[in-house]
Amino acid sequence: MTTAPLSISDIQQVSVKSSSRNHSRNYVRVAVGVPLRKGFDFAWSDALGVAIVGLRVRVPFGRRTMIGIVTEVDIDTVVPENKIKGVIAALDAQSIFSPALWRSLQWASSYYQAPMGEMLLAALPKLLRDGESSEPCGEIWYIANATGEAVLNRAPKQLLVYQFLLAQESTGASTTILDANLPGWRAAMRQLKDKQLITCQQREITLTVNQKPASPIRLNNSQRAAAQAINDAKQSFCPLLLHGTTGSGKTEVYFEAMDHVLARGEQVMLLVPEIGLTPQLMERVSSRFSYPVVILHSGLGDRARHSAWSHINRNSARIVVGTRSAVFAPFKSLGLIVVDEEHDASFKQQDGVRYNARDFATYLARQWNVPIVFGSATPSFESLSNAQRSRYQYLTLKSRAGGSSLPSVEIIDMQKAPIESGLSLQLTDAIKARIARGEQSLLFLNRRGFAPVLYCNSCNEGAKCHRCDAYLTFHKARKQLRCHHCGYQGVFKSVCTTCGEDGLSPVGEGTQQLEQVLKEKFPEASIIRVDRDSAHTESRLVEMLDAIQSGAVDIVLGTQLLSKGHDFPNVTLVGIINADQGLFSTDFRGAERSFQQLIQVAGRAGRRKVLGQVLIQTWVPGNPFFKFVCEHDFENFSKLQLSERKMLRYPPFEQAILFRAESNYQGDGLNFLQKVRNWLHQRVAGSSIRVYDPVPSPMERRAGRYRAQLMLLGADRKLISRLINDCCVMLEADRSSRKVRWSVDVDPIDTY
Ligand code: ADP
Ligand code: ZN
Repeated sequence: MTTAPLSISDIQQVSVKSSSRNHSRNYVRVAVGVPLRKGFDFAWSDALGVAIVGLRVRVPFGRRTMIGIVTEVDIDTVVPENKIKGVIAALDAQSIFSPALWRSLQWASSYYQAPMGEMLLAALPKLLRDGESSEPCGEIWYIANATGEAVLNRAPKQLLVYQFLLAQESTGASTTILDANLPGWRAAMRQLKDKQLITCQQREITLTVNQKPASPIRLNNSQRAAAQAINDAKQSFCPLLLHGTTGSGKTEVYFEAMDHVLARGEQVMLLVPEIGLTPQLMERVSSRFSYPVVILHSGLGDRARHSAWSHINRNSARIVVGTRSAVFAPFKSLGLIVVDEEHDASFKQQDGVRYNARDFATYLARQWNVPIVFGSATPSFESLSNAQRSRYQYLTLKSRAGGSSLPSVEIIDMQKAPIESGLSLQLTDAIKARIARGEQSLLFLNRRGFAPVLYCNSCNEGAKCHRCDAYLTFHKARKQLRCHHCGYQGVFKSVCTTCGEDGLSPVGEGTQQLEQVLKEKFPEASIIRVDRDSAHTESRLVEMLDAIQSGAVDIVLGTQLLSKGHDFPNVTLVGIINADQGLFSTDFRGAERSFQQLIQVAGRAGRRKVLGQVLIQTWVPGNPFFKFVCEHDFENFSKLQLSERKMLRYPPFEQAILFRAESNYQGDGLNFLQKVRNWLHQRVAGSSIRVYDPVPSPMERRAGRYRAQLMLLGADRKLISRLINDCCVMLEADRSSRKVRWSVDVDPIDTY
């Protein structure tokens, strides 16, 4: 929809009236990025122009100045006139937020109990938060003056950069191009500039458009029906849940729906959970459409992000592919939102403003009055129950597109199976067969490092992090011990810190150890390990994914980095090394999460002609969970789980709120939460809201600090929201709260 006419409540354009008041000044309220639930009042002078809600302003704050956002204009203030300070500068002429985005941010601030200033500033790219112009900033291009080669024969680095530029002739090369081609070029460039061998030009960053888009795939009947349902919803708010098995062609459905929206001149937001998924999707989108596409994710540099922002803001970018924070993009005429892999926990921000991008997107779609599609093979129970209550339209794709069948799933009973170094004989044989046939195997193990723990053979104690309640992980390549919770890194020593004996040795398997085992077992095979350690940069990850897709690899070994949405055409075997971790989690979402993960990984198998096989190693084969997994029976699994949740009055049937507290001394966090509990308890008496007792977090100590938590559950969201807000105001005013670092998590995804 295109931007609707502004209503007074959206953006109040109030001209400065100087005679209508006792004093000759006007006042505005400004939200700044501090963790306080209130705005600050400032005087507004005529010279600044017109005061408008949504402007960025520079204001004096303590001894410094800060950038804030005007949230109210023409206010009455209680600050005495001789105390009030003036706004120093207005940085924009118009609101930097569209009316729909502004209303959504207002809602999110109150729903997620986040101070307005923090919410608004979190929605802006860093350069805009720092006060830079919202106009496109362009990029510097470097052009070689064609005279210099001779003087550079003693400066090889400079010569390299110079020759690279010469080859580009009068076009030169941009910062982005240089970053991609000549890492570490900046120092050499400075020297070249000093020698006056280079000319610089500032040019606007333009978006390239694919002139020869691929012709669309012919959709099958269920795909066509789904796309039709989305198109039918045009120009009105309509949430649709697209539940389609892995490889069922959901992405093609999105594309078909996007076609119509783009042809109307509107913009599309395509959200994905993982930065690792953006390059692949980006490529698919740009080869399919002849509209300008931008990408938005946390790996972008500040300039690139600013540039993407201003292209979206000017409607020159029509498709936005992005991760979580892309929901704050400044669309001018949004027509459709797609949230792919909507069940994914990465949509929830885990610190600062703890918003859920999927839920924010839903509110935003309502404000724009446009359809929103949630796609998944394993929908979140929240979305599923919304579909069951007819709040969401429910669309299904039951079979895989392109004719391949779902893989067969088998359980390997590790109690009985012959095992060698963590691998059952059955799995080993299956891998062998794939190598012989030139097909790929994907092994999934959710653990980084060589072995999760070092055990002392004398005292049977493990090597623990001295700051966390967690075992250290042994990283063999670097002979290092690392804590995956606080980031601690230490040198590996075989001497036990508990008993002093020289007896520490690795136990259990991590990705690195499994890699070594595989290398020994299959010396002729090419093996690639994909985890946060091996794929430490985005470009490295993309390289690895390319290698896997090209079929150049026999065995892929990875963590959950690999479980999501990737399309690996040559994988015909998926092996789950240990499926039991999530089953015994303290989190009520443990089983839901494990199921999603297994189905997602299994979904990587046999996406083409050859039937895929999935082998799952477990120590508890009798667990009913595995029956559902083997039969791909998400429906009955979710029915059972949902009936349990209903009985226990857990989400999605009731809302959960989690207070967290962190302190240097063990008792402080718990005492603080006890106070919170008492305060809440008095106020919920007689209602159905449940306030639990504070407990130490499942991992109580992390990075040397003690953590505790308190859960509240209830069905009356409005009442809960007011209650929690009052509680936060009380806590902020209470000086004794400052001993602890506390936070409130609304709709927590991880309850630890
Ligand atoms: P999903 O998003 O559900 O995982 P994709 O849209 O990625 O599924 O489709 C999986 C594979 O099937 C892709 O290679 C895609 O090109 C192919 N595909 C999708 N729809 C069709 C169709 N109607 N006919 C043939 N192949 C299709
Ligand atoms: Zn630690």
